[in-house]
Amino acid sequence: MKDLSTLWKAVLDKLELTVSNVSFIMWFRPIKVIDFVDNKTLILSANTTSAKNQLSRNYFDKLSSAVNDIFDADVMIEILDPSEEMEYVKEHGEQTSEKEVNINKNPFNPKYTFDNFVVGDSNKFVYTAARAVAEHSGVKFNPLFIYGGSGLGKTHLLHAIGNYYREYFPTLNVRYVTCEQFANEYIDSLGSPTKNKAILEFRTKYRNLDVLMVDDIQFISKKIQTQEEFFNTFNELYMASKQIIITSDRPPKEIETLTDRLRSRFTSGLIQDIQHPELETRIAILRKKCQIEKYSVDDDVIDYIAEHINSNVRELEGMLAKVHFLASLSNKSSATMDEALEAFDGQIEEDKNEGLSPDEIIEAVCKYFDITKQDIIGKKKSKEIVEPRMIAIYLISEILEIPLVSIGKIFGGRDHTTIMHSRDKIADEIKTSHKIQGYISEIKKMLQSE
Ligand code: ADP
Ligand code: MG
Repeated sequence: MKDLSTLWKAVLDKLELTVSNVSFIMWFRPIKVIDFVDNKTLILSANTTSAKNQLSRNYFDKLSSAVNDIFDADVMIEILDPSEEMEYVKEHGEQTSEKEVNINKNPFNPKYTFDNFVVGDSNKFVYTAARAVAEHSGVKFNPLFIYGGSGLGKTHLLHAIGNYYREYFPTLNVRYVTCEQFANEYIDSLGSPTKNKAILEFRTKYRNLDVLMVDDIQFISKKIQTQEEFFNTFNELYMASKQIIITSDRPPKEIETLTDRLRSRFTSGLIQDIQHPELETRIAILRKKCQIEKYSVDDDVIDYIAEHINSNVRELEGMLAKVHFLASLSNKSSATMDEALEAFDGQIEEDKNEGLSPDEIIEAVCKYFDITKQDIIGKKKSKEIVEPRMIAIYLISEILEIPLVSIGKIFGGRDHTTIMHSRDKIADEIKTSHKIQGYISEIKKMLQSE
């Protein structure tokens, strides 16, 4: 909540930067703020009729863009002249400039909609679940817990749900926060000079929601008090059948900082993962992106990018933007393979893996986990060593495809069945554990950049 005069002052500060000094003094500074009706229409009054005309004819764009920045994109502006002002005041009474204004900026990225989300095998279930939650026909999946690796569309889906609510259920009280924001707000209220009041306000705000979305819950703090607060918030909303949507880069059972009771709460609803998109979906995402951003890019370029980046949609989009940028530098109407090759500039995986040796892989793994080579090929059985050892074995076998017996020799003469066991264990864990997926992809990246 802010008061009207503070907000108007912020609008003036903005305008001062965008119009000439003379216009600012002549037209803008004398404006009086009369009222803000239903958090929707801003009523202003100019000091003369000709000022009103000037503002309406020549400065309306600048005025409304400054107002939109400070208030909200949907605010309407009405400018009165002095006689209209008098009438307005007669009818509605004098408003105080300290009137409290509930500015309600759209917290959702307008580009992150369901329409802009490409659905494929990797994400069709999560899409359906998100869509069902957005349509809000009774709380079916509560909480909806979405997890998946970085850049696979989790935040996009939360915003899509939020945008949908804004359009079809504008009266719902929806709140989107990252886990960090929630913790910070709570901690701020604890540290406030009027602590009890601040905590009460914090609770009222959260517990009166119709929908709570928490992004990236894996960062939930270990602090008992914050988890406790979140737990209580969660329970109150849940008991009142309010929708809760949570995202994370891993499933609840792998979030180490999570207390057991929160973990079991999360598990009580629908847990849905987002997988890496298949080739067709990657191509469709790139095409969609071109359409949204109005990029012109040759089809073979799209295929090339989709074939060479298979992990992360954010990287996919980043590469597309780079290719488009390179084409625009040379004034081409459409991006071609020339730009694609330049953009990748030898980043391609296959080329890089050539000539890798088992030793280089072992070195990378040791460096990544900060352990020594003696340890990794030696006999130590502590978890800190065993897991990296199995990962190294897996990577050597997967990338270099050398016989298990040879790998056994490298690892201090281990038997090939031991090697096979290690390899299979990681190959298995990769399917379900985001932690292991993360290790593997990071180490691969290290190997590629060498
Ligand atoms: P996450 O939150 O999972 O890390 P984001 O939601 O931020 O990922 O997505 C990263 C980028 O990829 C965003 O620009 C998003 O619009 C885009 N993106 C991800 N998945 C899709 C999809 N299926 N269709 C279209 N764009 C997608
Ligand atoms: Mg995200």
